[in-house]
Amino acid sequence: MNVTELARKLKINTSELLEVLPEFGFSIGKKAIKVDDRIARKILEIGPKIKDKIESDKKAKLEEYKKIESIDAVEAEKKEIKIPAVIIVRDFAQVIDKPVNQVIRELMKNGVMASLNERIDFETAAILADEFGVKLMLSEDEMQEDVGNKLRFILDKEEKAMLKQRPPVIVVMGHVDHGKTKLLDAIRKTNVMAGEAGGITQHIGAYQVEKKGGLITFIDTPGHEAFTAMRSRGAKIADIAILVIAANDSIKPQTVEAIKIIQQAKIPMVVAINKIDLPDANIEKVKQDLSAMNLTPEDWGGKTIIVPISAKENIGIDDLLETILLVSDMEKEKIMSNPDREAVGTVIESHIDKGEGPVATVLIQNGTLKINDNLCVNDIFWGKARALKDYNSQDIKEAGPSVPVKIIGLKYPPKVGDILEVAAKIERRHKKAKAHELLKEKSLAAKILPAKEEKDESGIKKLCLILKADVLGSLEVLAESLEKIESEEVKVDIVSKGLGNITDSDVDLAESSEAVILGFNVKATPSAQDLARDKNIEIKYYDVIYNLLDEVKKRMSALLSPEIIRKDLGKVKVLAIFKTEKNSMVIGGKVSEGKIMKGAKADILRQKEFFDSGEITELQIGKETVSEVAEGQECGISFVGQPVIQEGDLLLVYQEEKIVKKI
Ligand code: GDP
Repeated sequence: MNVTELARKLKINTSELLEVLPEFGFSIGKKAIKVDDRIARKILEIGPKIKDKIESDKKAKLEEYKKIESIDAVEAEKKEIKIPAVIIVRDFAQVIDKPVNQVIRELMKNGVMASLNERIDFETAAILADEFGVKLMLSEDEMQEDVGNKLRFILDKEEKAMLKQRPPVIVVMGHVDHGKTKLLDAIRKTNVMAGEAGGITQHIGAYQVEKKGGLITFIDTPGHEAFTAMRSRGAKIADIAILVIAANDSIKPQTVEAIKIIQQAKIPMVVAINKIDLPDANIEKVKQDLSAMNLTPEDWGGKTIIVPISAKENIGIDDLLETILLVSDMEKEKIMSNPDREAVGTVIESHIDKGEGPVATVLIQNGTLKINDNLCVNDIFWGKARALKDYNSQDIKEAGPSVPVKIIGLKYPPKVGDILEVAAKIERRHKKAKAHELLKEKSLAAKILPAKEEKDESGIKKLCLILKADVLGSLEVLAESLEKIESEEVKVDIVSKGLGNITDSDVDLAESSEAVILGFNVKATPSAQDLARDKNIEIKYYDVIYNLLDEVKKRMSALLSPEIIRKDLGKVKVLAIFKTEKNSMVIGGKVSEGKIMKGAKADILRQKEFFDSGEITELQIGKETVSEVAEGQECGISFVGQPVIQEGDLLLVYQEEKIVKKI
């Protein structure tokens, strides 16, 4: 009988049936098409049981997902309080209901020296509040101002008439190792615009491809996706998300997390089931798991769009791109902007280049950025767009909506996620810039103070680190991931973090704060190298985030005290005391249970009460020295410890095993 027919008779899905059959002792293979009639009859007989099992499996899976969700729920349970964009320290303490000196202390720990009348910005307040278990929100008035002032996405009627179609912006999300980077590479390789392929493929954070005459912009953040920070940012600026799920691994915790972020961002999603070239690829299983999350595939009557692909073998990539164009066409009213106005965009990459100074890649979201435009972040003058480059390092004169553009000429590197906009009234903003620079100097001065006095407080050991990276994106992700490494005994303390090569002052700071310097994609200057050698300061270099995190975990593990596990060996009934000395005894006894060994420890029990403990240093049976004595045998025991054993006592003999703990 055909498996499909059998499944139909049982009123269940074929792949679900094949998946569950081995558990009932039918090993017909997961790709079987036909089954022997005799076996089919047997399967039909236990049909209800099979159905029950499938149902309960589905429920269990749902529970599992719920569990993952509940981790987030804990976050959500934190109290939520609304505050303005800038708040005085004293008011802040009041709204979060904490003593003001505790708040100031916490600020100092974070390297900010502020008195109770000083102002802190929302970002600082939010970090601080988090440490007090309080979640902060920007008050609605501020949010409106935020959107109105910064993004200028609230358009008036006139502007609505100016709207034109723009290329869709795509973000790729999914569990680590499911193939996001490989997919982005595959798309880039096969579809970069003609004439540009083979050129320098410098990753600037995003790229564009051409398909059927239309352009598609991809946010390209390789290696960072494991971290929520980037993912949520990615989702905010994207129009469509590709959710990559490996066909041999199906839905994993980060997949669930990605789905949630996509749903929160209210953007459409295309599921790319990747690695279909692998022999253990199981597309049906992924579809089942998606269905269990209420994301029923289109071909199963649901709405979830699925494209099976292999990023490695270049299978299905064209289908995926065409699907994206289709989805983008369905969403076209949302994918519009006005190219004829001053540009506004979001920073997706930013670093200091040796030759070019601070550079940033900005995804233009509205308007057109032109050479020599004056740029602002948060209403503060940030520099002039002296040169613009596209993702192929080609000089361009302007960049319109959905175009990723590298900007050269900024005064400082902006933060990833910052909104960059063209400044119309430059004089006013110059003034603000001055104030901002003063503020910056002040906060830098505050940061130099190492948080030394905080060490060893509450008994938690600290691993002090100085972090240097080439780009802000990596620095942020690293700092965030390092702070997330959990242990009750050891904490990471990032004494300082910054962009650019490791310098003498980093080494000096490492010395005063007893920190290790970790460099990510950066080098140490020759003089810093010499200084580090003289002062015996450790500098480690990395180019892979995971390796850096691994190393930190290893170092944290080394600081953990080992866990001691007691392994009971046996019991000895004390029959005679032969010799009593200051710190030792020789006794005679009988092993009443288990066995005892030389070198083992012993607790003395008198009338079931614990008395004392010591160590068995020697064992004898008759005149012969032995290393262990088995149950039922009598022996002589040399005991080292308080000489308090009496006839009739019971010795509980055990060994202690040290287990080195790992993070
Ligand atoms: P990411 O962590 O999601 O960015 O995953 P990567 O793109 O780094 O891929 C993880 C691993 O899976 C790498 O070893 C890739 O070569 C491999 N991989 C990615 N796509 C495929 C695929 O379609 N087929 C196979 N067989 N391997 C793949």
